[in-house]
Amino acid sequence: MRLTSLVVRPASAGERHCYGAAMLIGAHVRAGKGLVPALQHGADIGADAVQIFTQSPRMWKPSQYSDEVLAGYRAAQAEHPSVVATFCHATYLINLASPDPELAAKSQACLTANLSTADGMGSDGLVLHIGSHRGSGFETALPAVAQALVTALDEVDADIESCPILLENAAGAGDTVGRSFEELAQVIDAAGGDERLGVCLDTQHLWASGIPFGTVEEADALIELIERTVGMARLRCMHLNDSKVDFGANKDRHENIGDGTIGADGLAALLGHPALQGIPAILEVPGEGDGPRTEDVTTARGVLEAGLALRA
Ligand SMILES: [Zn+2]
Ligand SMILES: [Zn+2]
Repeated sequence: MRLTSLVVRPASAGERHCYGAAMLIGAHVRAGKGLVPALQHGADIGADAVQIFTQSPRMWKPSQYSDEVLAGYRAAQAEHPSVVATFCHATYLINLASPDPELAAKSQACLTANLSTADGMGSDGLVLHIGSHRGSGFETALPAVAQALVTALDEVDADIESCPILLENAAGAGDTVGRSFEELAQVIDAAGGDERLGVCLDTQHLWASGIPFGTVEEADALIELIERTVGMARLRCMHLNDSKVDFGANKDRHENIGDGTIGADGLAALLGHPALQGIPAILEVPGEGDGPRTEDVTTARGVLEAGLALRA
């Protein structure tokens, strides 16, 4: 297989961090007992990467972490070499596209706080749902969205090595921004193409927004679409989820891998795509209600292997 030759090609916007020859299988882990126990849980279930909410995802109140706690996380990651990457997920309440000035200001402050924590942890990226324009229109919302991203990046750290913001493709509900790669590309362009702006590709959101990827041909077409729009160099991580809802249903509802409407076979062709090897794919599946388990990580690895075999 010619995997590595395809993943290390020069990036058009900054060098993409390549984590290895094959896709990494990661897991979203809960930080209720603290950041380091969350990382430890990820290591315990065999995840190659973790994703963490650093504050309650449905509350504005920021969690304040001391420099010692953040340094402690970086040290813990060094002590858990099986977990090679940490992603943070921004609070769900953030809406950078809001036409309401008060909500827009709260969103800006919250994004900057989330990014600062992620940067302090040495995180590989802060995944963000851009939000909803609530009917004001994508074009109307675009300048404010772009400005909010630039402000957060500049306020946290002007260093290009600092934590990137990864814009997640939306499932397409309501007036969400980022329901297509064309929209994500427009947002990145409007923000001046900053190298610290990347993209996170969620398989359930793709499915729900009506973008097919179940066959090798469809998966190839999707990767070509991403290359043509945001550019593959910006794709820094994936969210690997099956779906509780049908193709095109525009709802964000995750299911365990193989138990949903996409199915294991429906995910394999995409996971096996050569251009996605080396990218961390984070499970955000329910498990038995407490999030990804060891068996979910194992199942995902099996689907990845099936996908690689399709192209062998
Ligand atoms: Zn996601
Ligand atoms: Zn989702």
